[in-house]
Amino acid sequence: MRDEIEIIDTIRKRFNTYPPEVVRQIGDDAAVVRHDNRYLLYTTDLMVEDVHFNLTFETPYQIGFRLVSSNVSDIFAMGGEPEFMLLNIALREDLPPLFLDELMDGIEECLKRYGSSLIGGDISESINNIFLSATLIGYSMNPILRNGARAGDRIYLTGTTGDSGAGLELLKIIRKPLDIKLNQINLTPEDNKTLRSFSADMDSILYLLKRHLLPEPRPLHNILKDINSMMDISDGLSLDLWKLCRESGVGATIYEERIPLSDALKAVSTATGFDALNLALTGGEDYELIFTTSKQIDTSIIPEIKITEIGIITEEGFYIEKMNGRMEPLTPQGYVHLRKQNG
Ligand code: ADP
Ligand code: MG
Repeated sequence: MRDEIEIIDTIRKRFNTYPPEVVRQIGDDAAVVRHDNRYLLYTTDLMVEDVHFNLTFETPYQIGFRLVSSNVSDIFAMGGEPEFMLLNIALREDLPPLFLDELMDGIEECLKRYGSSLIGGDISESINNIFLSATLIGYSMNPILRNGARAGDRIYLTGTTGDSGAGLELLKIIRKPLDIKLNQINLTPEDNKTLRSFSADMDSILYLLKRHLLPEPRPLHNILKDINSMMDISDGLSLDLWKLCRESGVGATIYEERIPLSDALKAVSTATGFDALNLALTGGEDYELIFTTSKQIDTSIIPEIKITEIGIITEEGFYIEKMNGRMEPLTPQGYVHLRKQNG
């Protein structure tokens, strides 16, 4: 079987003619269609039980929240605003009635968080696994594509990466759903005991768990006009930067010493033995933004969003400059569906 990237390339080659209002199709975080004086953005995400989520260590609320926020992230990655959502669900007959209520609680909370509305969808029964899919429609006056990076552009990253990957690693050890909601955490004494067994501070552990379970993408409003290309980090920093470079026909070099790591990731990695840098380069689902620009950005321009210059776009090649100054090839590693060994 071909892997996800090869399948998308195959589909893309076959469906290659579009009406003129289609500005961008397969190959970006969202499709872009001109409509009057603005652009409509369309993105969709599919979540499959035991592939994207696992009921042994997540609550239906958290799964619903993430279904919406992963789509919101793709709209923000285009410099857009999310507006309307369609929801498709395929459920097993044996699920308790509470499953649906809690799933809807998470979906509703996230839609509210981003000012979007559910306007339709479809339902089916499923024989084995649960399937969830959301399609989010947004708009932008000036969409930012993945394919606008030019040699010489500076590469910037919002926030920190690796946190969600570390949160997932913790969950795989905890193997129990924790009642963590957007504005409320209810841990049993037993949960507290389990989390304390990691011998890292509780705030750091909860921060990483929340980064994985309830990602909160953030838009980059103030500096959009200066940006040449942008995408969100959903599959891993190295893999997603490689995708951006591929779409733009350029290369990149990033500097290891500049990769931002959260204090929580550093603390928990020291306590547990996780490889923080590897998680930051290859861990998925951080839903941060990577963007390139020929300008030097004032990185303190948006007080609530940390922005770090992590590298430079080059004519070709994909490298990481290590702490010791040596240049090494950067392997685009992260999550690729249907690829046996991810990498
Ligand atoms: P993202 O991670 O932002 O969702 P990817 O890097 O996975 O995007 O690239 C997927 C691109 O391929 C997107 O433009 C998406 O719309 C398109 N794509 C993925 N699956 C299909 C499909 N089955 N049919 C058509 N286009 C697809
Ligand atoms: Mg994306």
